[in-house]
Amino acid sequence: MEPLFLQPVFKDRIWGGTALQEVFGYDIPTPHTGECWAISAHPNGPSMIVNGPYKGMTLDRLWKEHPELFGNPEGEVFPLLTKILDANMDLSVQVHPNDEYAKVNENGELGKTECWYILDCKQDADMIFGHYALSKEELVQQIKEGKWSELLRRVKIKPGDFFYVPSGTIHALCEGTLVLETQQSSDTTYRVYDYDRKDSAGNLRELHLEKAIDVTTIPHQDTGVAPSFQEQENVTITTFVDSEFFSVYKWEIHGRSIFSFNQQYLLLSVVKGEGSLVHNGEQYGLKKGTHLIVPVGFGEFEINGNCELIVSQA
Ligand code: ZN
Repeated sequence: MEPLFLQPVFKDRIWGGTALQEVFGYDIPTPHTGECWAISAHPNGPSMIVNGPYKGMTLDRLWKEHPELFGNPEGEVFPLLTKILDANMDLSVQVHPNDEYAKVNENGELGKTECWYILDCKQDADMIFGHYALSKEELVQQIKEGKWSELLRRVKIKPGDFFYVPSGTIHALCEGTLVLETQQSSDTTYRVYDYDRKDSAGNLRELHLEKAIDVTTIPHQDTGVAPSFQEQENVTITTFVDSEFFSVYKWEIHGRSIFSFNQQYLLLSVVKGEGSLVHNGEQYGLKKGTHLIVPVGFGEFEINGNCELIVSQA
């Protein structure tokens, strides 16, 4: 049994930049690359296994053909999606539906609860997280009147911060932010406000106000999660969130650390430093920008080095 290393898929976005190349060394397709779909089985951009017996297979196919690697799960689709986002410019203000709403209104798609680990950002960066309307009438009124600065709630961010963004939360990443996002595997977004920006042809991007108002949580609920810490030999494990959709951790490794996982598969993304993973006498290189899945039944392995990983499980 081998770890499953993955090749990311990149997405050109009008708000994207070149940080994915500068920071992670990825061979990005355009100077406006906004998204790295690092661990994805979503039909809009599945990642491919690059090693071992399943080399060349996409993750969605592996999920269907080898469910044993994932513990023979009930669900039809791989539930998670790990992305790295380079917000070189402000992203549009948006909100996502929950599972029930998406199932009915978006052809059976999953809803989208997501979370962000801030990898880097410019000084005094902020983001939009929630709103100040106290009733649906107030929300509709303020949107109609374009009172965005009164309506939208801004919070300061810094590298290392973590935000849990449940479906129904109005949100937007702002200029100069590099984020690792763990989310439900969904591509459904309702755009609320796009700063009245026009594209090169002079067109505004489409808004989805009716659906957005339908799904927005009113009033905003602050989901500040308190991380907890656990020390093991040569590793500090931070638990950021343990929710019904996913759990997300940070492993800060200094030296040689031993792990053992049999019951659940894990998604691993190296976000800092480098090292190696050793399993059954085989050694695999890890460096910033490496993404992999540890399958069910993998057992004991070690990671050597000085590196930081964001780890998640469904
Ligand atoms: Zn989002």
